[in-house]
Amino acid sequence: MANLEPVSSLTTDQARQEIADLQDKLTTYGVAYYENDAPLVEDHVYDELYSRLVALETRFPQFITQDSPTQNVGGAETKSGLSKVTHPEPMLSLGDVFSLEELEEWEQRTVKALGMQPSYNLELKIDGLAVALRYEQGQLKQASTRGNGVIGEDVTANVMTIDQVPKTLKEPVDIEVRGEIFMPKASFAALNEKREEDGQEPFANPRNAAAGSLRQLNPKVTKSRKLAAFIYYTAQPEVIGANTQSELLTRFAELGLPTDTHNRVIGKMAEVKPYLDEYTQKRDQLSYGIDGVVVKVNAFDLEYDLGHTVKIPRWAIAYKFPPEEAQTVVRDIEWTVGRTGAVTPTAVMDPVFLAGTTVQRASLHNPDYLEEKDVRIGDTVTLHKAGDIIPEIGMVIVEKRPKDSQPYQIPTKCPACGAPLVHVEGEVVLRCINPFCPAQIQEQLTHFASRNAMNIDGMGPRVVAQLLAADYVKDVAGIYRLTVEQLLKLDKFKEKSAQNLYNAIQASKDNSLERLLFGLGIRLVGAKAARLIAERFLTLPKIAAAKEGEIAEIDGIGDAIADSVVQYFDKPQAQKLMAELAQVGVNLEYRNNEPQADENSFFYGKRVVLTGKLESSSRSGIARWLSRHGADVVGSVSSKTDLVIAGKDAGSKLQKAKELDIPVWDEAEFLTAQRQES
Ligand SMILES: [Zn+2]
Repeated sequence: MANLEPVSSLTTDQARQEIADLQDKLTTYGVAYYENDAPLVEDHVYDELYSRLVALETRFPQFITQDSPTQNVGGAETKSGLSKVTHPEPMLSLGDVFSLEELEEWEQRTVKALGMQPSYNLELKIDGLAVALRYEQGQLKQASTRGNGVIGEDVTANVMTIDQVPKTLKEPVDIEVRGEIFMPKASFAALNEKREEDGQEPFANPRNAAAGSLRQLNPKVTKSRKLAAFIYYTAQPEVIGANTQSELLTRFAELGLPTDTHNRVIGKMAEVKPYLDEYTQKRDQLSYGIDGVVVKVNAFDLEYDLGHTVKIPRWAIAYKFPPEEAQTVVRDIEWTVGRTGAVTPTAVMDPVFLAGTTVQRASLHNPDYLEEKDVRIGDTVTLHKAGDIIPEIGMVIVEKRPKDSQPYQIPTKCPACGAPLVHVEGEVVLRCINPFCPAQIQEQLTHFASRNAMNIDGMGPRVVAQLLAADYVKDVAGIYRLTVEQLLKLDKFKEKSAQNLYNAIQASKDNSLERLLFGLGIRLVGAKAARLIAERFLTLPKIAAAKEGEIAEIDGIGDAIADSVVQYFDKPQAQKLMAELAQVGVNLEYRNNEPQADENSFFYGKRVVLTGKLESSSRSGIARWLSRHGADVVGSVSSKTDLVIAGKDAGSKLQKAKELDIPVWDEAEFLTAQRQES
């Protein structure tokens, strides 16, 4: 191997060089092995090079390219069980630059080759997975992944489940279009949170999550992952009468294809900087991850003149954002108990400003992860945001480690109840399996009362903690035995607030079954799965009596969920709880009366403030749309506000949002996010 220096002692330039070399080599070997069935090297040589590349890319994630063998394993189409598709025209990936200087060099070459100054179309570089969609007479016939560029995988059945990808275009054209399938940040965060709670390994970034969700043999899984898409390329623009890239995007939108509307045409490269600056700053606020900006010559006749090298087109280049990284010191490692008993470690660090927000905590996911990173209290660590959103520890800076440092000891007992922690087979997390663990009960009750479960207004974590401490409740059925007198004894409760909470509790008895089922907090059963199951079986006793096969049959529910539901109701505690809920008067039937917000929506659970003059729709119309998507539209800006949507002439609320460092969207930004959701 060319370079066996420890990964941690490489300079950025060395790493970049070595990563590029390895990516090339492994791609060549991969094609020979998988597609031509003619290996060029022994398997172990391939494996060694491959793991070296993984190590390098883990340390220097900024150099992971979409066509790196680690991202798109050569021959994955064979291993994955999906069938192969040969692309009519190779799907090339773009050349990368990492600085303005390199971008200017690219432009000089371009101008020289053309003998003139072209205009450019700038687009955001979406952090997703490249796909090709073939339409015949306007009907979607085939969808395929990029694969190695020449041969991809057939993912038609999976792409058909993505709402945003039209099955029928608005014009009956024959065209192959290409774009990016990606996972919006909210779906990514929710998915990873759920995976952790369910004892599964979280996805490293939205791109991996999108790839894992798309390259599935089971379209039901893909459907549940709520992927989105933007289309930005075709090799046949003449079919739809587009002469420039910017026209092409407009035509795509007219055909009903999803496009990103943040593109901008510039007359010369000097105008690129404001765009780069703007989106370097705004990227945290976008509802999807971007990792750079794509610059394309904005005229197809010029593109044809420029052509492409064997590997990359000459008429486009990708500018990659520099990685945003910070250093800080780990002060503590906290272990928290989730509602299903998963006990997960979180690093508590000195606060540091990173990519738009102050960060103090980062999940360490599970004991294996913690041990692999060897994070210790007192360590200086690098910190970045996975997928622009989730703070993540990159590596420990070993040189800065205190001399008396000791490896971190993984706890063996539950931090809340002291019960021994167990490793359930097939899971990476530790679990407290004590059914009476107070931390689990606290989480269960809070979840039960939450907005998208039983929606008991006023029963947040602090109230729940007091109710448990005072021994007023022991389980969710106990909530319905609370009296106004008891509530009055809670901290800061007055006559009116106690009565309000009591009323909210009573009102929740009439909720339709799906809320109750979700509220029970059964492993793997999210709000959407709960609704599907409730719709099918109509009463809680029928769900409890259902066979695994009957549940798994439901479209959108897999074997894992079915198994979890059956296991839950197999326990005597569940039967007892069901009887008690019936006894206190909680409705156990499905009432098909309310539209349910989609838990995968970007807006789900967010507190949003509208201000200023909004032009696309009335403010109340936008507020209604937001509530339907699970947002809480509130009147005033506070530190709890997640997002401010500011129209024209916004005043004090906008000012306040800026002071509090709360993300602010203009109306165009909102409309883009809205389009993504529909
Ligand atoms: Zn416990």
